[in-house]
Amino acid sequence: MAAAVEGRVKLLLVDDDGDNLLALQAVLEPLREDLMLAKSGTEALRLCLDHDFAAILLDVRMPDMDGFETAEMIRARKRSRHTPILFLTAYRSDEQLFRGYDLGAVDYLFKPIVPEVLQSKVNVFVELSHSDQLLRRQTEELRRTERKFRAVLEAAPDAMVITTREGVIELANSRADALFGYPREALLGRNICSLIPEWETPKDAPAGPLPSPQPTETRLRGIRENGVAFPAEITRSPFQTGEGARVTTAIRDATDQVNAETRIQRINLELEKRVAERTVELTRSNDALRQFAWAASHDFQEPIRTMLSYSQWLAELTKGTLGERETQMLGFIEQQAHRMHQLLGGLHQYIRVSESGEQDWSVVDCNALIEEIVSNLRGMIEDTGATVECGPVPAITSIRILLVQLFQNLISNGIRYRGEKPPVIRIAAEASEGGWTFSVRDNGMGIDPKYFDYIFGVFRRLHGIQHSGTGIGLAICRAAVERLGGRIWVESAVGSGSIFYFFLPWRPDDNGRNESN
Ligand code: ADP
Repeated sequence: MAAAVEGRVKLLLVDDDGDNLLALQAVLEPLREDLMLAKSGTEALRLCLDHDFAAILLDVRMPDMDGFETAEMIRARKRSRHTPILFLTAYRSDEQLFRGYDLGAVDYLFKPIVPEVLQSKVNVFVELSHSDQLLRRQTEELRRTERKFRAVLEAAPDAMVITTREGVIELANSRADALFGYPREALLGRNICSLIPEWETPKDAPAGPLPSPQPTETRLRGIRENGVAFPAEITRSPFQTGEGARVTTAIRDATDQVNAETRIQRINLELEKRVAERTVELTRSNDALRQFAWAASHDFQEPIRTMLSYSQWLAELTKGTLGERETQMLGFIEQQAHRMHQLLGGLHQYIRVSESGEQDWSVVDCNALIEEIVSNLRGMIEDTGATVECGPVPAITSIRILLVQLFQNLISNGIRYRGEKPPVIRIAAEASEGGWTFSVRDNGMGIDPKYFDYIFGVFRRLHGIQHSGTGIGLAICRAAVERLGGRIWVESAVGSGSIFYFFLPWRPDDNGRNESN
C-alpha cells in the first residue's frame, strides 16, 4: 500500500496528552499532509500495522508503554522497520539520547516545542518520503517497460540479442537459443563474436544520446553450438540507454535463401550456356541461309537474263507469224522473267545491307545526300509533277550506302503511292534523346494502321502491280536502320498521307558534329 493517497504522505503523532497532540497538529497542519493521532504506544502500533508513515513523532514519556518501548516494537516490525522516528522529550540527558538513537531515532525535539523547528524537521522527512514515492513509481514503471520489452523481444520472428557496444550479450530471446543451440544462461555474458565471428559494432553506434542511426543489414557466418556454420542475415541497430550504447542484433538463418540463390545462379548459368550454344547454332544457320540467298539472288540472275533475252529474241523472230494468243503467252513469259529479275535484284540489295563493315562508317552530309537522290529520281519527279522539300538536316557519322537506300526508297515510295494531287514530299530531322529522328512525309494514299508492321517484311505489298514495286523496299529500309543501330516506324491513315520516321543514335565519335546544316 502506498504511504499516502494522491501524493500526500502520512505523519503519525503519538502523545498521551490530548492538548499536546492538538498543539502538534496545529503546528503541522500547514504542511498539508495526512496527520494521524495516537494517544498511546499500543494505539500507535495498531496504526503502524495498517499504514506507512513518512515519519512518527513519538512522546518519550507515556504511562503504559513509554516512547522507547513503542519505538522498539515499531522497529521490530518489517513494515515500519525504516520509518523515521522523532522523539519528543523534555529531558536532555545523554543516557536518554543514546538509548533513543540505539532504538533508531533519527532526531529529538525538545519541549517546549518550537513550531518552526518542528515544522522544518518534519518537512525534511515529508520531502524524503515524497522522493521515495516518486522513486517507487519510476521503478514500477521501469519494470513494466522492461516486461513489455521482453515480451516484444520474445514475439520477434527472428533470433534477437542485445549486446553492449563491445558485443557482450545482455539479453537474448528464445529463438536465439534455438538458432544457436545454447541454453539461455550460456548465451548471457558471452561475446556475440563467438556466435557470429565477423560481427562488428555498427560504425555509427551513437556514443552520445539521440539520434539513433538506421539499422545496417549484412550477411555473415553464424556458428552453432555444435560448431556447424550457417549463413546468417544480420540486422544491427544501435541505440542509447542510460547505461550507454547498446546494439540490437536480429539474426535470421539464411540457409534456405542461399540455397535458392545458388539454385537460381546455377539455372542462370545453364540458361546462358544454352543461349550461347543456340546463338552459335543460329549464327551458323543464318550464315548458311545468307549464303543460299546470296547464291540464289546472284546465280539465278544469269538463267533469268538468258530466258528474258531468248523470249525477246523469239518474239522478234516470230513477229507477225504468231496468233494473238501465242503472242500474249510469249509476252507473259517475258513479263514474268522481267519481274523475277527485279525480285532477285531486290533480294540481292537486301542481303548486302548486312554486309557493310566498320570501315564503311564515315561522316555523311545528309543535305548533299538528299540532293543527290532527288537528282537520281528526277525522271520520276518530273513525270509525276512531284515536289521534294528538305528542311535542315545534319551531317552524321553513318554508312553512306545505307542512307542512300533509306532515303531513296522512302522518297520514291512517297511519289509512287501518290494520291489525287501531285506528290509533295517533306524531309525533316529533329534531335531527340541520344540521336536524330528523321521523317519523310508524303500526301499520298496513306496506309491502313493494321499494316504498319506488315509492310516492313520481305516481299510484302499492299498495292497492285500497277505500282511496279517488288515489296522489298521497306524491308531494306528496316534492315538498314537496324544495321545503323536505330529503328523505323510509320504513322498514317488511308487517304491522309504517311510519315515514315527513323531514329539513328549518335555514335561516340560524333563529337558535336550533330548540328543540323
Ligand atoms: P514496294 O516495292 O511494293 O514499294 P515496299 O517494301 O517499299 O515495296 O513497300 C511495301 C508496301 O507498302 C507497298 O507495296 C505499298 O503498298 C506500301 N507503301 C510503302 N510506302 C508507302 C507510302 N508512302 N504510301 C502508301 N503506301 C506505301
